[in-house]
Order: sequence, then structure tokens, then C-alpha cells
Amino acid sequence: MTARELAERSSRGLVARAYQFARKAHTGQKRLSGETYFSHVESVADQLAAWHLDEDGVAAGLLHDVVEDTPHTLDDIEREFGAMVRSLVDGVTKIGHIKYRGKEEQKENLRKLMLALGEDIRVILIKLADRQHNMRTLSFLPREKQERIALETAEIYAPLAYRLGMQHLAGELEDLAFPYLHPKEHAWLLNNTRTRYEERERYLEKIKPVVASALARARVRIEKIEFRVKRYASLYKKLVQNEMDVARIYDLIAFRIIVPDLKDCYTALGVIHELWPPLPGRIKDYIAMPKPNGYRSLHTTVFCEDETVVEFQVRTGEMHREAEDGIAAHFTYKERKRAKDSLKARQEEVEWVQRLREWQEEPENKKDKQFIEAMKIDFFKDRIFALTTKGEVIDLPAGATPVDFAYRIHTNVGDECVGARANDRPVPLDYELRSGDVVKILTQKNKRPSLDWITFVKSPSVKRHIRGTLRKSGLLARKIRRTEFLVSAIDRIGLLRDVSSTISRTRTNIVSTSSGPDRRRETHLIKVRCDVDDEVKIARIAARLKAVKGVIRVEARFV
Ligand code: MN
Repeated sequence: MTARELAERSSRGLVARAYQFARKAHTGQKRLSGETYFSHVESVADQLAAWHLDEDGVAAGLLHDVVEDTPHTLDDIEREFGAMVRSLVDGVTKIGHIKYRGKEEQKENLRKLMLALGEDIRVILIKLADRQHNMRTLSFLPREKQERIALETAEIYAPLAYRLGMQHLAGELEDLAFPYLHPKEHAWLLNNTRTRYEERERYLEKIKPVVASALARARVRIEKIEFRVKRYASLYKKLVQNEMDVARIYDLIAFRIIVPDLKDCYTALGVIHELWPPLPGRIKDYIAMPKPNGYRSLHTTVFCEDETVVEFQVRTGEMHREAEDGIAAHFTYKERKRAKDSLKARQEEVEWVQRLREWQEEPENKKDKQFIEAMKIDFFKDRIFALTTKGEVIDLPAGATPVDFAYRIHTNVGDECVGARANDRPVPLDYELRSGDVVKILTQKNKRPSLDWITFVKSPSVKRHIRGTLRKSGLLARKIRRTEFLVSAIDRIGLLRDVSSTISRTRTNIVSTSSGPDRRRETHLIKVRCDVDDEVKIARIAARLKAVKGVIRVEARFV
């Protein structure tokens, strides 16, 4: 069902109202393709409807660009469509501020930000549908933008879709990005594989009735036998591993057999192996052992007619839909079952979110694994992800302020920071940032950090830095350890005065003095406590004290 059909079902329903609102809001706006802007949001909503998202999700799809590209605000959205639609649109808008330009560190942060913003999985699905349509119309954009968006798609969105089990979308996104990222390789593939594809297809057409009748004889019910054509992006990856030899790619086109239930899957596999001998090591039971992204299917590769190697995939209709639509398929399933079995649905949802998290936390390097393990505990509770105006993600502790943000950009930016704007509005320097906030820092040359910043900054390293800077400039009194000098001397008139003035001449502050007879040594003992902890200075004072008339020995200790 399309978004429009959903809207027509009930003219006063949420989707219908969102449909009209978005159409009106985007009136007069055109895409670079020449189509109306509304056609973009409608395509996004169509995809969401095809994934069976609920009404809030489809409505948010229709409204996803309203805040960014029209004068309407989030408050308008909330007034018209409620707090849920608002929060979905808000999440999508925030993710839209991210701009990935291919830095390793940014890749991690971007994934983390997405998860932080996409705690409601619908936000991610809307963003994926948005990206899908933008990729389909990428040819109309200027060259430089094409490259950036294609890179972001290949490195962030396609892996994200794959992780969510949405193989169909992941494959499409990779294929759409491929010609922009590897134009020469793409041209090479078109030239060198087209006839191969055609040959393979003719060959499989010939085999198809053989398979169908063998399955029928074994009483395997068949929902569908189709060909799965390998996509260019994944073919290219495989070719690189196989010395660019197309003849070595067995699964250029594979058979895909869809059957009604699990038992049929295994029977079908047996039938195929009876017809043709399987290649050793190529039988994969992803039903008994699903892939980490939830993919379930039986795979086998056999020596078929004329010694030609052919791959087969066997699965049920339900597995098929899950393999194609992943979390979206699950979403429908959950919606359907909710009334009956809400607890179970909850558990499944938790499982998906868990999978997402595992992906977020998956180390890029194995050696980082232990480190990440240690970090895993309440990871997201403690971090937020704010953005620079250029769309770079800045990873900060929860409760971080514009001052923390400024120091993460550069020490000088921190030191010279005088003001901040978040999401284009002025905010105080102690404002608590939230994930997705776009922050701009205002600076003033040669300004120094303010003492009160220490009371609200969240990053310990920033706090340390501010303290250090303030101390150096004398704005913050250093806490100094005290030293007690023990001066043994033969008592005489004026001894105490001479000892005190010797210390005073070194510009050292005397905190207290006491004097009295030292019975053990039968001398006089003067104790002087001073504000000094510099050992060089202490040695100098001790040496001067020793030169005072009548002094026998001097000891110094920290107190
Ligand atoms: Mn959009």
C-alpha cells in the first residue's frame, strides 16, 4: 500500500493530514531532478508504508523535511500531529546534520550518534528510506556532492541496513553508490560481465524445469523458484579476491527456491543433492545457525549439468521476507502480534536493539576489543554526540556544555570561547548539550578561561586544563604544601627574630613559629611553619638558616 492509499483510507486520519500538510508546506519547491519536492517525501513515505510502518512512522516520513526545508517548526508538528511524530521528525532532522567525509574516527562516532538518536528504530528506518530515494536521484547532484553522499552511503548506511538484516536495501544502496566511488571499475564490470550474466541466465532457465519436476516428485511444495542476480558492488568485491576472473564466480546468478515450511527446506536440499553432487565445504545451514544479522537460509553449490557450478538458496516465505526487509519485516510481525502477545514482541524488540548495539560496539580493530569490552557498560547513558556546523560528530560526556565542546575542537577555541549557539539559537555556556545539537562556538582573541567554568564543565581533562591555565596566570591560588623547619640552636637574645627574618627575606610566608628547649639535645629548638613546597627553595632557606649565628642544625619536613 502506498502513502497516498493510506491517506485515502481515512481522510481525517494522521497519514491523510500529514500528506496534505507536507504537500502544502513544500509547495513551489523543486528537486534538482526537476520533480516537485513533495515527490521526494512521498517516495520516502511509500517505502515506509511498504515496510508496514505504523501511522506515526508514515506520517513522520511525509513530514521528515518540513522542519529543515520549510518555515514550519517542531512545535508546529507537535501541535498538528502529536509528540510522537515530533520526536521522530526531530531524530531524522538531527541525523541529517551529520556529514561524513571519510574519517575513520568519524565513522565510529556517526554510528554511535545514529544509535543515540535512533533509539526509536523508526527514526533509522525513515532515514534509510530517505537515503534510498536520495541515492536513486543522485545523478542530478553536482559531482562533489555525489562523491560525499555515495561514500557516506557505502560506509555508513549500507552497513547499517545490512546489520538490520535489510539485505535488499543494503545491496541496492551499495550498488547505487558503486559507480560514483569506483567509476572505472564499474565501467569494466559492465563491459566484462554482461554476456556472462546473459549466458548464466539462459543456462539456469534450462535447468529450472529439471529442478521443479524433481521437487514435485519428492512432494516438496514450491512457492516460487527465482533467480538471484549478484549485484555489481558485491561482485566487484568478490572479483578482487579472485584475481578479477569472472569464471571463478559461481554465484553470478543463483537459484532461489521459496517453500512453505521448514521441513520443505531440508527436503528440497536433499532433492538437489540427489540430482547433482554438492561441492565440498559449500553447504551452509543458516537456518540452524543464522548469520549475526539474523539471515536464515540453506545454501549449497553443486556440479550441475555440463559440469557447471551452480548455487542454490532454499528458504521459507517468512525467512525470505525477513532476509529482504530485516528489521522492517520484524516490525510488521510485531505489530500484528502485539495485541495477542505483547510480552514476546517486547523481547524481540529488545533483541533487535541489542543487535544494533553490538554492531555499534563492534571494534574496527581486534586489538581494540578489550578496550571496547571495558567501555561497554552503560555506554550510551554516559555519552552524547553533538555536531559542528560542518557536520562532524563530537563525542562528549553526558551533561557536557558548549565549553566542553569548544575544548574538544581545539584548546584555543576553548580558552577563547565567549559564547555559543545551539541549533542556531544562542545558549549560555553552561547549557546542557543533547545528542544531535549543532553547536557553533563564538570566540574572542586572547581571552582566558573563566574561573566559574570549573563549576559546570563535564570533561575531567577540560577541568584540569582550565585549572592549570588559571593557576599559571595567577587567577587561581595554588594549593601549596607547607614545610616545617626545625632549627636547633644555642639560645641567645634575638635568636627567634633572626630566624624569622632570614625566612622572610626569601619572600616566604610564615604560618606559625614556636620555640622552646630541646631536652634531648640540651639545645634550643625553633619550629617554623611556612607556605613553601619547592624543594630548591627549601634547600636555600635551610642553608641560610644554618648561617644564622648560634644555629647547630636545620631539618625540614613537609607537614
Ligand atoms: Mn529527505
